[in-house]
Amino acid sequence: MKHLALLLVLVPVILTAQSHDALHQRMIGSAFLGNASYDMLMRLSDEAGGRWIGSPQNEQGLEILAEELRAHGLEPRLERFTVPGWVRGDDEVRMIAPSDRVFRAAALGYVHRTPAFEAGVAWANRGYVEDFDTAGVAGKIALVTQDRLQGRESILRSEVIINAADAGARAVLFINSKKGGMLLCGMGNFQGDPAAVPAFSITWEEGQRLVRLLDRSVPVRMRITTESYCTEVESANLVCTLPGRSDEKIVVGAHFDSWDIGQGSIDNGLGTAILFDVARILRALAPENERSIELVWFNGEEMGLWGARKYVEKHRGEKIHTAINMDMTGSIRGFNAMGIEHLRPFLQGLADGMTGFDMSRGVMNHPWTNSDHQPFMLAGIPAITPLGHLDKHMVHTYHDFGDTFDLVNRKYLSESAGVVSILTHLLANDTTLPYIRRSDEETASWLTEHGLAERLKRQGEWIFE
Ligand SMILES: [Zn+2]
Repeated sequence: MKHLALLLVLVPVILTAQSHDALHQRMIGSAFLGNASYDMLMRLSDEAGGRWIGSPQNEQGLEILAEELRAHGLEPRLERFTVPGWVRGDDEVRMIAPSDRVFRAAALGYVHRTPAFEAGVAWANRGYVEDFDTAGVAGKIALVTQDRLQGRESILRSEVIINAADAGARAVLFINSKKGGMLLCGMGNFQGDPAAVPAFSITWEEGQRLVRLLDRSVPVRMRITTESYCTEVESANLVCTLPGRSDEKIVVGAHFDSWDIGQGSIDNGLGTAILFDVARILRALAPENERSIELVWFNGEEMGLWGARKYVEKHRGEKIHTAINMDMTGSIRGFNAMGIEHLRPFLQGLADGMTGFDMSRGVMNHPWTNSDHQPFMLAGIPAITPLGHLDKHMVHTYHDFGDTFDLVNRKYLSESAGVVSILTHLLANDTTLPYIRRSDEETASWLTEHGLAERLKRQGEWIFE
């Protein structure tokens, strides 16, 4: 009798665990055999291309994604918003002395239309305030290296632009630290303010040419035309919801937008595509859960996390239990608990259970900033990320022309879609995981404790007292 009672208590528990196992095996199977992310990403990359927020390509991409989601029984909806946007124009960075040469260059985001001008060039080292003290850049174009200085925190490009403008420079040219004719796209700031002076990324090779000329005191003159401009843009996050039984929800997100000069197939075509397969798998195999599951393709991450900021603003009053962010997620090798202590054992258990996968990176616990989980962190919501592995050549072309579909590995997509489906399903159904939301005060001291306050302040994103 005693044994029977014990058995009766244990049976439901064992059954649930076993049915989860069987379900999770089907999820992995579907991720590999039913893989749909690869073809969707090919369409996004080739038919739409680079998906800069507010561009026609971005809107076209949203339509492709929505159409593909509907084909798998999902009901995507757009959450529209307006933000300070930026449009790339027909800019030109041209050397006119000692000879004529149009440089390969990309304006940084929020660089604003400026009448064309000619000026000399002056070396301003790394662009720290003290570099400008001796550079003599007044009225000139400041040339800045992006090589890091050992033992000193690297300066942000937004800080260099301010230092340059304060010193009277008329523009800044950032020499890329990677060789091979490459550029490094990025923002002039994250607030949406027109940059104080035009700023461009130029190649390592053309940068070295300027450095050698200046070293030999050969007068260098350049002509800079800036037609890119800041303007308000309308965009949208794309959202799919699988309603749950409780009022809590799990948000699984990835940024949908990318830089314009490539196809954004790695950054963040990968996260976008993995999330697509997660949506497909959960819709087919586990549409009903304890907590709601909300799949969100954020827009405008590259321009300053705008979509995630707007999402958190809009859904602030809801009980978001956990947010998962996938940005350039390759083959999953583990998880980052991001300083969320109560999720560490849970993630460790999951990593230990994935016996057929390479989980060699285990569970890390290092929060970081500057991707879509940041607005969640700032709002006190637990946010975690998977740890993905990418081959070197896949990240080499980061924020440049070469980020194209050619770099995408189908197997990596399947692995990650399978693991994230299971992770999401467990988070949505494990009722032993508490709902914890930090207060502003707790968040501020937690960020300080993890060494993130300083960087957020320098970026102008510290929202606390
Ligand atoms: Zn990204």
